[in-house]
Amino acid sequence: MRKKVIAGNWKMNKTPSETKALIEELIPLVKNTDDTVIVCPTAACLAAATETANGTNIKVGAQNMFYEESGAFTGEISADMLLDLGVEYVILGHSERRQYFAETDETVNLKVLKAFEKGLLPIICVGESLEQREQGITNDLVRMQTKIALKGVSSENAKKAIIAYEPIWAIGTGKTATTEQAQEVCKAIRDCVCEIYGKDVADVITIQYGGSVKAANSKELFEAGDIDGGLVGGASLKAADFEGIVNYK
Ligand code: PEP
Repeated sequence: MRKKVIAGNWKMNKTPSETKALIEELIPLVKNTDDTVIVCPTAACLAAATETANGTNIKVGAQNMFYEESGAFTGEISADMLLDLGVEYVILGHSERRQYFAETDETVNLKVLKAFEKGLLPIICVGESLEQREQGITNDLVRMQTKIALKGVSSENAKKAIIAYEPIWAIGTGKTATTEQAQEVCKAIRDCVCEIYGKDVADVITIQYGGSVKAANSKELFEAGDIDGGLVGGASLKAADFEGIVNYK
């Protein structure tokens, strides 16, 4: 039985003091879940997040990371910096980074490899635009994104990867994919992982759905056979909303 993983992507929201306040509010609300709970604030708030979440069941993830060790890469953040802050997860290849910051499948792959080399767990985002869905190429596209992201990743590491299926048309739009649509693509991703690594990896890898997840739809989505939790944007910014998703059972 795979554990659900529910991660909040706070995007460019919350200051360090607001981060501390939101995590303090969340701690008692999510403390009884058996599932994995992750919050992913912006880089400037990671220290506040790890300090506040220390000793609780809330894990901290970053929203991005660079694949080089160190050096002349102004504005970038290395894996070692994240690890030193106590960060355990890192979102890679979010569609907003692909769209606004020229992230490509190849740079996502380099980042995934670096994350595993250093011991960070990547949350790898894949997903199609509305136009691509209408063209009927959703499954082909997410399979390709998955294959490139995992290129060179060992079976042992692939078992620890998290893939977030996030249809771009459902992110921040209030339009959630139906459970059938989300399940179909998450299963296509799992089948693709099975083709690359075999059933023992496919059976344990975590595949989340993301795109306007809220308390009202999380139970149905997370109970679908191939959906192992969610990557949550807007509804992770208020403790009461995020708690409703985490405690979906
Ligand atoms: C996201 O940005 O990862 C996301 C899923 O956002 P939202 O839940 O707001 O659609």
